[in-house]
Amino acid sequence: MNSFKCSNCKKHLKTMPNYKVCKFSSEEKLINHYKSNKNCPTKNIIANEEEENIMVINNNVLEVMWAPYVKGITIDEDDYADYQGIMQTQYKIHCKGGKPLWFRTSELAANEILGHILNPDIQVISLLAEPGSGKTAVIHNLIYQILLLPYELGQQQMCH
Ligand SMILES: [Zn+2]
Repeated sequence: MNSFKCSNCKKHLKTMPNYKVCKFSSEEKLINHYKSNKNCPTKNIIANEEEENIMVINNNVLEVMWAPYVKGITIDEDDYADYQGIMQTQYKIHCKGGKPLWFRTSELAANEILGHILNPDIQVISLLAEPGSGKTAVIHNLIYQILLLPYELGQQQMCH
């Protein structure tokens, strides 16, 4: 049990976060704040508790692992596979007409980003490149790849 005055922090914080990260001027002020304080480190977590957001303290930095934004959408496995089939057919038809929709490098970049998205330890992903180099194409391909994820994985990522 920690020594926080704030009942929410007492309940939810396992270790002492860095007071600077939490926007307090000293550790003493962090320890002695009340739960009405706007800088209370657990404020957002309590508000979203029913959405199962998980707060973790990693290297003294407070991090929130967000619950999915969209809830309550379900799609059965057969429909999921049908929609994926339609998408793949449309893509095939497009490519038959001539040039492929994406460069190989765009597909590879999107695939790498997808790997990061599926990694719960990664919170921030940045995609940097010169203007006109194809960042938007990477994102379009990324959406395509996400929509082709296997059923279990797709459900887990998008439709809690
Ligand atoms: Zn607090």
